[in-house]
Amino acid sequence: MLDLFGRVLPTYKGGFHTHTTLSDGIFAPSEVVRLYREAGYDILALTDHRKTNTVSELDNLGLTLISGMEMHPAGPRGIPWHIVALNVPESFEYPEGMAAQDMIDLVNKLGGACVCAHPHWCGLTSAEVMTLKGFIGLEVFNTATRYIGKEYNMQLWDEMLDAGVMLPAFAVDDMHRPRDLFRGWTVVAAPDASPASVMTALRQGDFYATQGPEFHFLHFADGVFSAEFSPCTEVIGLTNFSGGYCVAVPDADGPGSGAKDCGAFTATLKAKRPGTWFRLQIRDSQGRYAWSNPIAVPVTEA
Ligand SMILES: [Zn+2]
Ligand SMILES: [Zn+2]
Repeated sequence: MLDLFGRVLPTYKGGFHTHTTLSDGIFAPSEVVRLYREAGYDILALTDHRKTNTVSELDNLGLTLISGMEMHPAGPRGIPWHIVALNVPESFEYPEGMAAQDMIDLVNKLGGACVCAHPHWCGLTSAEVMTLKGFIGLEVFNTATRYIGKEYNMQLWDEMLDAGVMLPAFAVDDMHRPRDLFRGWTVVAAPDASPASVMTALRQGDFYATQGPEFHFLHFADGVFSAEFSPCTEVIGLTNFSGGYCVAVPDADGPGSGAKDCGAFTATLKAKRPGTWFRLQIRDSQGRYAWSNPIAVPVTEA
């Protein structure tokens, strides 16, 4: 369960970027479903390059299966976009040459949702990502891109938040082969794990990204942000500007310097100017992160 800003909801472990033999993955769709089910996942989206899977014909083994696709419209400087479309019709196709924004608009119109996949790996800047509208999030962590050292997208995410684009973040495997399995996932807080409830939660930002640590409680009321989570050695509250409300616990000498496990965080957030955001980033003793989604901090009266 997660107490998410006053709503106590069950949580579901989701994989929202996965490839199969339908494109360049090495496992057949049924094998991917089995692997993720055995690893304790509740939700799995199959997102092959330019192709949808007929998930309704697969034995779901109890998983909520979501039909998806990784789309590759032309992007800036000759770089193709990597856009993960979730909950598209199983018959979904897009015409060759369709513009990226038109594709996102089409997916949204059909009841789906789009995530900006691994922008750092693509070589895209935050300014370029922000030319597209209508994403429900971006990938803050992508397992498959760690082999070239571009698996994290925190800086790009923060640049977008600084520019006023308040996107939530996903962690995903982008699984193609065994080395990509089970290193990043997204925890969805929803009344149940039906596809409709999962998609509603994703559109509302009711989720967090993680490599292992778990959030149990996230609250923000009367200017006070508080959180409870599984034991971590590094806990950082991030916000805009270098002189923002960066807070590190448990040790004031800097994040992780105490190297003691900590499971709670509280900070009073005082925004001096509009557009102030705040997000919590925690890291456990094994170096695994979890990221809460950003909240807007209202300007405090002087
Ligand atoms: Zn990709
Ligand atoms: Zn991919």
